[in-house]
Amino acid sequence: MLRLNILITILKLRLMNNSRMVKVSLLSLGSNLGNRKKNIQNCIHSINNCKNIKVVAVSSLYESSPMYNLNQQDYINCVIEIETTLKPLKLLKNNQLIEKNMGRVRSLSRNQPRTIDIDILTYNSEIINEENLRVPHPRIFERKFVLNPLFELKGNIVIPGNDKKIEDLIKELDKKSDKIRQCKYKINEKDLSYSS
Ligand code: AMP
Repeated sequence: MLRLNILITILKLRLMNNSRMVKVSLLSLGSNLGNRKKNIQNCIHSINNCKNIKVVAVSSLYESSPMYNLNQQDYINCVIEIETTLKPLKLLKNNQLIEKNMGRVRSLSRNQPRTIDIDILTYNSEIINEENLRVPHPRIFERKFVLNPLFELKGNIVIPGNDKKIEDLIKELDKKSDKIRQCKYKINEKDLSYSS
């Protein structure tokens, strides 16, 4: 299984390396229904199984209290880095298909519990303001469940449109609310299995 995964990764790398169209994107994943850790792991597998996407880095899993709609279970979140040849709107569609296939039911009201949520945080250093896609994601800076794993993965990365350091943003948010909990679970970047 491990060998097969490595082989697939090498083949995909070769294929994608032939193209000058490879972009780097950071995605935020969250789940608060069912087996939340397994959902995150399955989601990362599904993303990596797409022929135009390769998962290159995965943060630890973090557990956080819900925001906006407080009447729901805690979330498990992480941030992943991908390389992709998909254009931003195609990437969004691809992510929404994965959400649907994983049983996500969209209701009319926002911030409802979900088996999986995939947000595009950044796409190279592009700024996108389409009706259905805004990148960098407009709510990165108010969400510790994004900033903490992002800092773990990319340090004080510069997010287009904001010159504050990620660690300073985290400190500001820590003053206002509970710190989020880093889980001992880590998804292995080589074979995407998770260990505790
Ligand atoms: P949510 O309920 O958080 O999954 O919101 C999904 C909606 O946000 C979809 O209709 C998307 O078109 C829209 N959206 C806008 N910007 C983004 C983004 N950067 N990543 C994911 N969804 C986005």
